[in-house]
Order: sequence, then structure tokens, then C-alpha cells
Amino acid sequence: MQSDRGRHNQLEARYAQVILDITSGNLDKTFQYRIPDELMGKLKPGIQVLVPLGKSNRQVKAYVLELEEKPVCEPQRIKDILSLPPDAVAVESQLIRLAFWMKRQYGATMIQCLKTVLPVAKKVKPVEKKEIYRNLDSEAYETFLAECRRKKQKARVRLLEAIPKEAPVPYEIVGQKLHVTAAVIRSLEQKGVIRVQVKTVARNPFGNRKREETTLILNPVQQKAVTELLDELHKQGKKRPCLLYGITGSGKTLVYMELIEEMQKQGKQVIVLIPEIALTYQTVMRFYSRFGDRVSFINSRLSAGERYDQFLRAKNGELDIMIGPRSAVFTPFPNLGLIIIDEEHEGAYKSEMTPRYHARDVAITRASMCDGMVVLGSATPSMESSYQAAGGKFRLVQMNRRAREDAALPAVHVVDMRQELMAGNKNMFSRLLYEKLKERLERGEQSMLFLNRRGYASFISCRSCGEAIKCPHCDVTLTLHRNGQLRCHYCGYTVPMVKLCPSCGSPYVAGFGTGTQKVEEKLKELFPQARILRMDMDTTQGKNGHESIIAAFANEEADILVGTQMIVKGHDFSRVTLVGALAADTSLYTSDFRACERTFQLLTQAAGRAGRSSLPGEMVIQTYKPEHYSIQTAASQDYREFYREEITYRKMMHYPPCTCMAEIIFSSLSEANAGQVSKEAALTLREKLDSRRCQVLGPAVADIGKINDVYYYHMYLRTANREVMNQALELLNSFMEWTKCRKDVMIQFDIY
Ligand code: ADP
Ligand code: ZN
Ligand code: ZN
Repeated sequence: MQSDRGRHNQLEARYAQVILDITSGNLDKTFQYRIPDELMGKLKPGIQVLVPLGKSNRQVKAYVLELEEKPVCEPQRIKDILSLPPDAVAVESQLIRLAFWMKRQYGATMIQCLKTVLPVAKKVKPVEKKEIYRNLDSEAYETFLAECRRKKQKARVRLLEAIPKEAPVPYEIVGQKLHVTAAVIRSLEQKGVIRVQVKTVARNPFGNRKREETTLILNPVQQKAVTELLDELHKQGKKRPCLLYGITGSGKTLVYMELIEEMQKQGKQVIVLIPEIALTYQTVMRFYSRFGDRVSFINSRLSAGERYDQFLRAKNGELDIMIGPRSAVFTPFPNLGLIIIDEEHEGAYKSEMTPRYHARDVAITRASMCDGMVVLGSATPSMESSYQAAGGKFRLVQMNRRAREDAALPAVHVVDMRQELMAGNKNMFSRLLYEKLKERLERGEQSMLFLNRRGYASFISCRSCGEAIKCPHCDVTLTLHRNGQLRCHYCGYTVPMVKLCPSCGSPYVAGFGTGTQKVEEKLKELFPQARILRMDMDTTQGKNGHESIIAAFANEEADILVGTQMIVKGHDFSRVTLVGALAADTSLYTSDFRACERTFQLLTQAAGRAGRSSLPGEMVIQTYKPEHYSIQTAASQDYREFYREEITYRKMMHYPPCTCMAEIIFSSLSEANAGQVSKEAALTLREKLDSRRCQVLGPAVADIGKINDVYYYHMYLRTANREVMNQALELLNSFMEWTKCRKDVMIQFDIY
């Protein structure tokens, strides 16, 4: 019935909304034209058309955004579209189609989607690209470097070590990623040790020689993975997304590079998505040294202008590879062949702003528009991707061995903190962790300790029985507020802070303290001689705070790094042989159905940080729930077992990926309108969809009912599968077209 209505719509669409010159970046201004009879049925979003403009009716190119039934003003004032230009396929068409898909999928407006998808032109003052070379012969250079090391001139050492023998490093990478100030660079230049040179255009800084990564030869496991991925990549037409499941340290990056090189040979381009936090100097240089000038990087700190610059280079064929966080998925490559998403399980791939897209879904849709392929890489794949692989929709490619012969998986110890307490240790460090830390300090190796901060310190649990204190009416933990009250965020239930555990009567009920700062203080007490670095929200303020701490730790300026879970994401420190997870189970108690998955991922990734090189690694997991499957399977590094347990739970609870869930968000300046429209929308869905296939929960006032004078209502949809969800979203889309003009209510979809 739904598709009938869709077709009906198309037949009646007599008008087209177009934008004229998208390179001008003025995306707010759209125009309506009439579709002449000879073009009826031939237009869809993204198609390029010629339209008359202005008094003189000069012909200009435009892109169709949407087809519409009704004229926006008196019909006689609307001009006709002239024709379709013969060379109408452009990368912009593809991106506009993508924006249109996003609009329907996430319930945003077309303008919001266009602004997300198309780079916004901003005048940027041309920056001179500079590069830094060595300016001494090898021997003299090494002597100078040794002298700097002796004098502990850390910044100089960092810079000098980073410049390869016969090639330069880009100036901006040195600044952004190594945190070497201009003053340091200038002084070394004045001493004649280095040379700063304005870069000549479009030259490969490494010549044609391949460096570093190519000296690595694919091991048989990697070779097999490459062969399988290429097999899918070489298929004509539609290619399945591939899930590259490779344990930590299995060498996924080298596999990506082989695929990229193959794409380069075919004259196609590649987008590589990497979580922002892992876009370190190390990662950047690995790609730079293999692909030179054909690769570019973006990050969220770039200004709109700088980003536009990089996108323009991509569009003009100056680049083959773009690396960046989720928004890099919109790089306007004209002949895109492959999108790689590294650490695909990372939460950062989902946008929290309108449109609330997930880069994985956008990548798959975009790839299907250009017969490209998507590779999703992870040591702890998301439940979604594994579920798709299990059902055959994704192709599974595996690597079960660490790439370096000498790097074994770390030994993981689980410590039951309840027993520590029984043995009289009220310390935040178990006896085992204390011993291991001491060993590391004596051997001059590095350790990392992290607190799992999601929901940290705000919930209360019993240190004797391990139970968290929950709301009697809902399946969520109570939150401790500053006034000493425990409160349920869902139903409002409030009680004074308990003195005794409701389950076992023990007096040892407590929050988990104040976090990383407390850990640091305690460490200083126990190991006064240790050099300690702390990384958390307080110490990473400022533009590059986080990276400078990472750099200092990588330079072995500290023995122990203390922090939140951000320290374990994607970094590769060769001298770290011990990782400690303090209070590993805090993330098990959130109201999020992904809590167990997140805990498993975090612990497994953390274990992967230990012993990346020839030094064997160990991990200590401190927990009050040692028997929980997330902890157990992380300790044995057994993804498969975790997946089996977790998917059983999701099936039983009807949670994704076994079902499809979405939050529908209604917002308006008028509370009454938001409320009324949400009721009508719920009614429409309940009327038109079988309640066994589509459950509608709500509507209700959203958790935060008012933000910035805008009122929020929401409801939840749970459907059997994605197809039914799309049907529901389509219904809401038609419903929206009608409310937008009448009630001024925005509707957005947040797909879980
Ligand atoms: P992953 O991303 O799968 O965790 P990486 O790509 O970071 O792993 O590789 C882990 C380590 O193994 C790196 O230090 C890398 O240089 C090394 N490595 C990768 N492939 C090979 C290989 N074929 N031979 C030797 N070392 C390798
Ligand atoms: Zn108890
Ligand atoms: Zn409650």
C-alpha cells in the first residue's frame, strides 16, 4: 500500500525544487521550477538540469533536490525546466542523492542534509604549504640528535626523529601532531640542522620510492584476507560489505593499504574512516610514507575553509585517499571505489547532531550508488555487523593471529574485588595489580591504568555483593545527586542515599569515588618515585592537550599513564607491558542496551594495548562481577563466545540487531503542537501498521523536555526488521510533509 502511494506521488510531481550553483555554498536558496511534459518521470533527486534564470532567462545548470506536487506561489509565475544536459553525471549528483536518502532515513530537512553532505565554500586565505628537511649529512645529524637527547630537549628530539633521511615532513603535521612549536623549528633552522622549504605543488614528498610499510611483507594470514577482499571487490556491480574481523595487532592497516593500492591501479579513490582519537602522528605517517601526496587528512578541528580546500583537491583529482573521522565519508571523489571503516564498532561514527546518521550506514548507501565496496575492520565488531555477517548480508573475512611473530596476546588476570575486601584490602588497587605495577617500575617498563568513566561515580553499588542499586520500578540504576538523594531518571522515583545494601545488608555501599585524580593521588602515595601522567577531561582542555599527553607518554616521559577509557583507544605504545582496568564493570550498569557490548569492547581493546612488541604484555581487570560474561570473554579474548551470549540476550529482549529500534523526536517552539503532532503521528502508525510487526511506544515528553525554549516529545518504534522500519519511516515522512506547513513541528529519527 505504501509503495502505491509512493508511485502515486511521483506521477503527480509536477514541480521540482532545485539548487543552482552548489559550489557557491549557498545551500539555503532553492528555487521551484515546473517539470515540462517531456521530462515527466525522468527526474529524481541529484539529476542535473538546465533552467532559465533571471529577467534575461540565461541558462544555468542546477540540481534537482526534490519533486513536489504543489506550486509554492501562483503557478503562472513558475518557469519550466529547459532540458537535461548531456553530461549530467557528476559527483554532486551522487552526494545530493545521498542527502535525499539521509533526509528520508533520519527525518531531517533537505537543507540540513545538504549542509552535512556538501562542503561549504568559504574564502580561505591561501596558506603556503611548507615542508621540513634534514639539512646535515646523516652522521652530523645523528650526533646533533644524540646531543639533544642527552640534554633532554624533548621537542627537538621529537622533531628530529620524525624527519626521514631523504624526505621531508609536512610542516603542518609537525605542528598539529608532534606539538613542536614554531620557535623550536626556527631555532633548529638557524642552527642549520633542518631546512624549511615552501612546497612545490603536487609533488610527492617521498619521491616514487616506497618506504617503511612496503618493507613489510604480508604474512600468509594477511595475504589470505587480501585475496578474499579483492575477490569481493572485483565483482561486477553490487558488492557485499566486508567485515574484516582481525584480532588486535593482526595487522589490519597493512591489509587496508594493499586494497588501496589496488584501487589506485584501477584509477579509483578510497575513503578511510578512523576514529578521531586514533588519528595520531603515528597513523598519519604510516599512510603518508606509503602514499605520499596522494593522501590527505581531515579532522574535526579543521576550519570549514580548510576542509573545503581538501574536498576540492579530492574532487579535482589531486588525491586518491582521504583519511578522517565520520564526516570524511562525504569526500567528493569522482570515482570512489572503496570506503574503509577502521574500528567500526566505535560509537563516534554515529552523529549526535541532525541528521543523526551512522557513518556505517551512510558508507554502505554511498558505496552502492557507485558500485563501490565497504570494508569494516575491527577486533571487536559491533553486534550489528556480526549479525549481518552471520546472516550472509556482509561477507566475513578473518585474521586470528598477531602480525608480528614475536607479539603474543597478553595474559589477562581477573581480580574479584569482593574478595580483596574480605581479605582486608580496602584499597582501590588489588594486591595483584600493586605487585605488577611494582615489577614494571623496577624493570623500567610502562603501565596504563584506566577508569571506565561511562556513568562513573554517579551510581551506587555494594562492595560486598557487587549489586548496583536499582530503581524498583524500572530496569535502570539510580543516580546519586549532590543533595544526597538517589533518583531514577526514567520514572522520577527518589529515595535518600541508602546506608546498607538492600540485597545483602552490607554497610560497604559507595559510589566509585571521584575518578582519575584520586587514582593519581593514591599512586603517588604508593610509588613516590614513579613518573605519572594523567589524561582526562581536566588535563586535556585546549586544542591539542590530548595529543601532547599521548606524545609525552610515547616518548617515555612517564612510567604510568592514568586516565579514562580514552587512553586505550587505538594507540600503539611499544613499551607498555601492563594495562590495568580499575572498576571494569561500571559500564555494565547503564540504561543502554549496549552496555555489555561496550564493556566487552573496551576491555578487549585495552588488553590489546599491552605487549604490542616483543615485550610480553599483561592485563589486570578489577571487577565486582568477575562471573559476568562480558568480563569473562574479554579476559579470554573470545569474541565468538561473547557474541553468542550477547545475541541470545538481544533476541530474548527484542533488542537490535535482532529487531530494529528508533527514537522519533518531535520538537517545536509550541509545547502543545509538539505534543499534539506526536500523538497524531503515533495514531497514524498504529492505524496503518500491524502492531505485531511495528510496536509504537509513547509518545511522551522527552527525557529533557525543553532545551533552548524548544519543547521535545518522543516515541519509540520497534520493528521486526529494517524493511518494516523503513515502511514506518516512509509513513512518517508523508505525515511530516503535511505537519511541516501546518504545525511547525520538526520530526527527527534516531535509529539505534
Ligand atoms: P591492528 O590494526 O590489526 O591492531 P596494526 O595494523 O596496527 O594492527 O599492526 C600491528 C603491528 O604489526 C604494527 O606494529 C605493524 O607494523 C606490524 N605488522 C603488520 N603487518 C606486519 C607484517 N606482515 N610483518 C611484520 N609486522 C607487521
Ligand atoms: Zn550487597
Ligand atoms: Zn524508575
